[in-house]
Amino acid sequence: MRVGIVGAGMAGLACAGLLVEQGHAVQLFDKGRGPGGRMSSRRMETPAGIAIFDHGAQYFTARDPGFASQVGEWEAAGVVARWPDARDDAWVGVPAMNAIPRHMAYGLNIVSNAHVRGIARGADGWHLACEQGGEGQFDALVIALPAEQAAPLLGLYCLDMARIAVRVLSAPCWAAMLTFEGQVDCSAVIRDNGIVAWAARNNSKAGRAGPEAWTIHATPEWSRTHLEESPEWVAQALSNAFLGASGADRPPLAAIAHRWRFALSGTAGREALWDSASRLGVCGDWLIGPRVEAAWLSGRRLAQIILSDGASSLCDQPMARSSGVA
Ligand SMILES: Cc1cc2nc3c(=O)[nH]c(=O)nc-3n(C[C@H](O)[C@H](O)[C@H](O)COP(=O)(O)OP(=O)(O)OC[C@H]3O[C@@H](n4cnc5c(N)ncnc54)[C@H](O)[C@@H]3O)c2cc1C
Repeated sequence: MRVGIVGAGMAGLACAGLLVEQGHAVQLFDKGRGPGGRMSSRRMETPAGIAIFDHGAQYFTARDPGFASQVGEWEAAGVVARWPDARDDAWVGVPAMNAIPRHMAYGLNIVSNAHVRGIARGADGWHLACEQGGEGQFDALVIALPAEQAAPLLGLYCLDMARIAVRVLSAPCWAAMLTFEGQVDCSAVIRDNGIVAWAARNNSKAGRAGPEAWTIHATPEWSRTHLEESPEWVAQALSNAFLGASGADRPPLAAIAHRWRFALSGTAGREALWDSASRLGVCGDWLIGPRVEAAWLSGRRLAQIILSDGASSLCDQPMARSSGVA
């Protein structure tokens, strides 16, 4: 089977990995420069050296036995390590969070910088309309995007799926990345302090030798109120908030901000969606909840359904488990 997957975040990659393992021809399309989506990392050159930040997911937990076993394999491959500064069961990518999607992407056929604007189904299968090129013809199509981005594509072909997606709303998050000369004298993680929902010393994660590097996440409320402000303004505002929260006695050497419009998803209370008649499927964290583990579980689940060609008209799999929030 030729399967096209729109979105090469954790869910799309997990789905692709299992399908390829079973001998199917899979092609992923992502609008980003590389795979990973919200498991992104950034490098910043500073006078004190290269600082590395995870600016989306900061860490993840593994409670499902299948996911825990996958994390064990990544650990053996040197791609993840524990991060006790956050919590005893926290895992991070080594040397950065995007090491995990990169590892998963190895050997997969991924078209980057391919913003999919439309999907079309003809007698010969599925076709994609990409903004910057990239094309293909597929027997099955998987949409592995945040709910808000999936809904308009799904609405073209499956109103039932689109209706499920539009009911799930994500919270935005402004993230700031700050570097300092020398260590800031405070604990490695600060939670819930004014507009700072989370601040973490990213150079305290395993395998990072760079200078003092902090990622700050603003609260959803503050992020929503200031969603359309400039990154420069937000970087300054979150720097000030961090100085207050940490007690740092000097300004950062450098500060940049990144806006996550759809950072933390709601939940549809399902695992994956599949329509066996049209061979259209949906996976993503939002089917289960706003976590890396949920995205992996949803992607794997959809691949299993496709492999068994789970016969349902709107493949609407009720959740088999409930898992906590990382
Ligand atoms: C600020 C922040 C903090 C977080 N903290 C945690 C945490 O502490 N613990 C935890 O477990 N999880 C956390 N998460 C959530 C975690 O990152 C996500 O649950 C997970 O990465 C989602 O994976 P996904 O594949 O479902 O979606 P995504 O990672 O969003 O992947 C979707 C992909 O689709 C691409 N795309 C979008 N539209 C199109 C299009 N039209 N055409 C082509 N490509 C497109 C995007 O570029 C992206 O690569 C956090 C996320 C954020 C943003």
